[in-house]
Amino acid sequence: ENQTESLRLRLDISVKGNCVPAPILSFAACNIPRKLLENIQGSGFEMPTPVQMQAIPAAFKGQSLLVSAETGSGKTASYLIPVVSYCAQFKHEQSSTMKRPLAMVLAPTRELCIQVEEQAKLLGKGLPFKTALVVGGDPMARQLYRIQEGVSLIVATPGRLIDLLTKHHMDLDSVSILVLDEVDCMLQKGFREQVMQIYRALSRPQVLMYSATVSKEVEKMASILTNDLVIVTVGNPGN
Ligand code: ADP
Ligand code: MG
Repeated sequence: ENQTESLRLRLDISVKGNCVPAPILSFAACNIPRKLLENIQGSGFEMPTPVQMQAIPAAFKGQSLLVSAETGSGKTASYLIPVVSYCAQFKHEQSSTMKRPLAMVLAPTRELCIQVEEQAKLLGKGLPFKTALVVGGDPMARQLYRIQEGVSLIVATPGRLIDLLTKHHMDLDSVSILVLDEVDCMLQKGFREQVMQIYRALSRPQVLMYSATVSKEVEKMASILTNDLVIVTVGNPGN
């Protein structure tokens, strides 16, 4: 207990919430599939960054999170590693044609979605893990087809995903993890209602929210979307 507290102090991590697991000091400390561990190493990641040390074990435990840490601190992998791990365990249960989406990342811009999907593909290489990108600028029919072929993860901008949902029926109740990246930015861009609408199309997913800064609005949204929220803050984000 005390050891955990001094470790967090040293890493400049603060947590709020119930039963938050201790930070991990190595990627091997969680139940990460061996192939994913190799891909993490292959990406040149030797050690987890502080936000990864705390967010990964909490996400693995199924906790819903509101995470803030400065830009460049490795937030993307801190949610993609649990997401890929979760998706990869379904290899035997679902044939690829039956495969329905298991996780979804919403991000404010097309460019960010492209980057997130790229990193997801790198981490998921060699695992039963396929991704679909749902953003403006590409034909919607192709994006829909890709999803219907069977993917584990959808990476989308809220506007485009709502477009897709209103024009085509899509069952999203298999999505168990919803990641909201750059929530502060999504709210600033006026995506609040769209994000809420997407959330309501899912069946009470684990929600992983990421924000550079945590405003009252971000906190309010987190409290609506989650029951037992864990708040993780690393360093002095926003400064
Ligand atoms: P953030 O979303 O917090 O702004 P990113 O997730 O984009 O930051 O990560 C910033 C950079 O750090 C990326 O180039 C990423 O590949 C790299 N990175 C992430 N995690 C690690 C790690 N554990 N070790 C080394 N580099 C990392
Ligand atoms: Mg980021």
